[in-house]
Amino acid sequence: MTTSSTKDTILVLSGGMDSTTMLYEYRDRIALAVSFDYGSNHNKKEIACAAFHCKQLGVRHLIIPLEFISKYFHSALLEGAEAIPEGSYDEENMRSTVVPFRNGIMLAIAAGLAENESLSRIMMANHAGDHAIYPDCRPAFVHAMDEAVKAGTYNGVRLVTPYTGLTKADIARHGKALGIDYSKTWSCYRGGTHHCGTCDTCRERIEALREAGIEDTTIYE
Ligand SMILES: [Zn+2]
Repeated sequence: MTTSSTKDTILVLSGGMDSTTMLYEYRDRIALAVSFDYGSNHNKKEIACAAFHCKQLGVRHLIIPLEFISKYFHSALLEGAEAIPEGSYDEENMRSTVVPFRNGIMLAIAAGLAENESLSRIMMANHAGDHAIYPDCRPAFVHAMDEAVKAGTYNGVRLVTPYTGLTKADIARHGKALGIDYSKTWSCYRGGTHHCGTCDTCRERIEALREAGIEDTTIYE
């Protein structure tokens, strides 16, 4: 039963597990996916995955370069594989990988694109596991940004974030039901040839796949 559902949504797609799951889960409403190349260690790997899945699903995909971020901002995420700390769930450690206000910058651009394309929704795959470290993933930020883009656009664009209360393992369970091949997603903050298996994002990935009962076919160094 296929009814003609309206494609009214722009998805911020990194090419990691979470936003890729959102792409598959909400594909009937996604008119456009947008990835941002902000010069991080792992952008090339991530964006190749994002492009792969958009092609699979026939979703239009834009890649927007944000060179100014790596030029003017400091973050371990922008400073090469050696700058990424070994995973320890230590807050100070993880904080070194924050790119200042990254989601705010990306969402502001997505709001402009949405208005430009006459789309009424932006989707982002922030989740509960991000809240502790990243202020621009928390419910208070998402709520305020939703209000801001609604007030700042003629068509009253809304920010929709259905994974805000989910853990990464919950998201992986959605992906399992959708039959997503997670080996074609990228998590590692080091951005090497293969996932390192030891940084925080690799550890989170391994744990989420295990908790969701998904066979992890990712190649680790
Ligand atoms: Zn890693």
